[in-house]
Amino acid sequence: MSADVDIDRWLTTQGFGAEGRGRARAELERHELTRPGKARLSLEKLDRATAVLGARFVLHCHAADCIAWARATGRAPLTTDVKQACQRCGGSENARAAQALTEAGIRKLVVVGGTPATREELERLLGGKVELRLVDGTRHRPIDRAKADLEWADRVLLWGATELHHKVSKQYADAPNAKHRVVHVPRRGVAQLLAGAVESVTRAAR
Ligand SMILES: [Zn+2]
Repeated sequence: MSADVDIDRWLTTQGFGAEGRGRARAELERHELTRPGKARLSLEKLDRATAVLGARFVLHCHAADCIAWARATGRAPLTTDVKQACQRCGGSENARAAQALTEAGIRKLVVVGGTPATREELERLLGGKVELRLVDGTRHRPIDRAKADLEWADRVLLWGATELHHKVSKQYADAPNAKHRVVHVPRRGVAQLLAGAVESVTRAAR
């Protein structure tokens, strides 16, 4: 068996649609990785082909913010129907929301409430991009710690509709320096939580 792949099939698995496959082929031909009429590509050339296509094109899903992001990369944007192939969000609503949060300029975030599982998800999505303080909404937070959180954070999200005791959220909501930094988000999902933070930044900029 020869160690090669069918070019069209390989491009399809990479997320290239019908139009994208044509343009990708032309790019591979331009770099002399293949020539017109040739159907297969040797495995040895796959790494270079991947690099060549990655330098020229950016694949994005149908979400408006992924389209806008792709256009700003300076590479040729191609719509993909394979959600996981979107180079911004990988088809994940949570990842899309996390990206929007960093694009909104939030670098330090406090989240009060949620569950151990959602806190883990937030760490996974935002770790390394945003400094996080994740506060258990069921346990007392000393008032001076709450005040310090408020001083430190770009946004403090009070995550209603989750495990959040009134006593804990009140320490943040009633603080004299709360102002626009404290955002109540009475929505359950991680993506919805992060969207609440982004909306508050958009409102503040108006
Ligand atoms: Zn996307």
